[in-house]
Amino acid sequence: MEAEIVISNLTKRYSNGTEALKGIDLDVKRGEFFTLLGPNGAGKSTLIKVLTTLLDKDTGRFSIGGINPEQEKTKIQNYIGVASQENEIDSGEKVENLLIFQGKLFGLSTVDAKSRTEELIDAFQLSEQRSKKAGTLSGGNKRRLHCALALVHRPQVLFLDEPTVGMDPLARANFWRVINQLNQKEHTTIFLTTQYLDEADKNAKAMALILDGNIEYNGTISGFKNVVSKSDSISLNDSYLEFIKSFSK
Ligand code: ADP
Repeated sequence: MEAEIVISNLTKRYSNGTEALKGIDLDVKRGEFFTLLGPNGAGKSTLIKVLTTLLDKDTGRFSIGGINPEQEKTKIQNYIGVASQENEIDSGEKVENLLIFQGKLFGLSTVDAKSRTEELIDAFQLSEQRSKKAGTLSGGNKRRLHCALALVHRPQVLFLDEPTVGMDPLARANFWRVINQLNQKEHTTIFLTTQYLDEADKNAKAMALILDGNIEYNGTISGFKNVVSKSDSISLNDSYLEFIKSFSK
């Protein structure tokens, strides 16, 4: 598979002196379902913010789909979609209108924006919510709307930051069905962070583990289990805990 995201020696230090990324090297292949794992404070959000152009890096390089963000920021913003918990939806606008506006923002005609909105309302089962004010949705429905908004322009890479927090089991199952379809049928590259390791285990194939601003593993999930636990029939959760424990010794 071709490379989709290539990161080399990336560093980021916040103004208070915290070194959040200490020289990240990471590859994600095109069409891959990838998950970035690591404990709180490891640097996941910082890395996602840098990759999605919300935050400037200090040193090092990265490209997404061969696009260099320093030279072509808008191009990269069109190439990716981001569903993050940071962009809280408090809009008084109706769900369907938000989706249509988002489509127009990305250059779709009114007709195309409306038909894309219908597809996404259908995929994410938001039809009961379509005429409600977005800000009044429940947490789980807001997460689904975030995801639908991130997909309006059919991005090649979708960043999902803790996407299923607050979703009930049925919404969660439906959510993963839609994301897997997107990955398998449209070959959208998925970049997921989650603390629900069972979800990562079930859906993703590739992973990286970040600890204290460094990548400690980048490869397949089954490779990780084999390296850490000498078996790939163990759960990712158990292997992850084993790794963290051995690391902190
Ligand atoms: P994660 O997403 O894995 O929980 P973060 O990327 O949020 O980790 O944080 C990595 C490190 O950077 C932590 O030590 C955190 O306290 C610090 N950090 C995050 N955001 C800021 C900020 N705006 N200013 C200073 N330090 C920050």
